[in-house]
Amino acid sequence: MSESLPGGFFRTDLPMNDGRTIRYYDRSDISRNAKDQRPPESPAGIGELRLDPLVNEWIAVASHRQHRTYLPPKELCPICPTSGDLLTEIPDSNFSVVVFDNKNPSLNSAPAGWELPEVNGPYTATPAGVGKAEVIVFTPKHDSSLRELSEEQIALVVSAWRDRTKEISQIPHIVQVFPFENRGVEVGVTIPHPHGQIYAYSYLTPRTERMLAVAQEYFSKTGKVLMDEILAREINDKVRIVAENEHWVAYVPFASRYPYEIHVAPRKRVPDFAELSDLQANAFPSIAKEVLSRLDGVYGVAMPYMASWHQAPVKIGRDLLGLHWQITSVRRTPDKLKYLAGSESGMGAFVMDMAPEQSAEQLKAVRL
Ligand SMILES: [Zn+2]
Repeated sequence: MSESLPGGFFRTDLPMNDGRTIRYYDRSDISRNAKDQRPPESPAGIGELRLDPLVNEWIAVASHRQHRTYLPPKELCPICPTSGDLLTEIPDSNFSVVVFDNKNPSLNSAPAGWELPEVNGPYTATPAGVGKAEVIVFTPKHDSSLRELSEEQIALVVSAWRDRTKEISQIPHIVQVFPFENRGVEVGVTIPHPHGQIYAYSYLTPRTERMLAVAQEYFSKTGKVLMDEILAREINDKVRIVAENEHWVAYVPFASRYPYEIHVAPRKRVPDFAELSDLQANAFPSIAKEVLSRLDGVYGVAMPYMASWHQAPVKIGRDLLGLHWQITSVRRTPDKLKYLAGSESGMGAFVMDMAPEQSAEQLKAVRL
């Protein structure tokens, strides 16, 4: 049985061999019933959350993840459609976009009575690693990338991000939902097939906690929403804008941390995917393709990147933080990568080798 989604999309849920769920996202109401033919397996375990008491940050310790698939050859790709003897994570022999629970999740469902303990330095309790980890496969085509997908296909990916954010936000204990994509072996991708992940946390991540505190402080001082002011400044400065349309603006931030860093934000702030309008969603595929094409066009090679969807937390700060996409590439020159060295890794203090305006200039100069 399929369920209809906003924007005219459809979703069908089916069970997997170890009790996980796979969700098929489609542009039409097709009937899906492919059975997972792999032998039954027991469900994945759960790790733990340890507090780093020096900075009060939770570290998800998931030692059961060491044996996960690492750079399989194409003919053994675990996220291609199932075909013949190759029984993959996706039981159907055709699909458009799927989302399934990660086989080796770094965070998993809450045991009964679970609670995030109070922080108390080295005496803080160590709870189970509660949260959720999902995999989203952008296309059945192994040799492709988000940039190369049709706008219709990217719209389906967006529909899945909206649906997952909405649904996962309802799960008890989940405080934050984070869709992201890593691309390229340079940033640790273990499966080259175009895909992303969705993590949901039972605690506020350090980055979001900091962003929220800064936005709260700014609001109490000025009565203004920081994110709106940042976007207004970029629109006003103009020089760092690399792409825009009626609903979205893409820019190299004034103080970017990486040689190639692009933020893509809706002109009208929304807290998260769940509250994105159909008009905003429909305008995203074209700007996504443009931004990623500019990125790949700078050196004429596929850029390794990390693309992170920042969203407001599920229950707090929804008037102060907003959905936006941050893409950062570790490539510095055609043959050099930026490593997070002493200052960045040790102190969290970034040093940029290039003026952000220079980087924006290069991105704008790419002929599409
Ligand atoms: Zn594949």
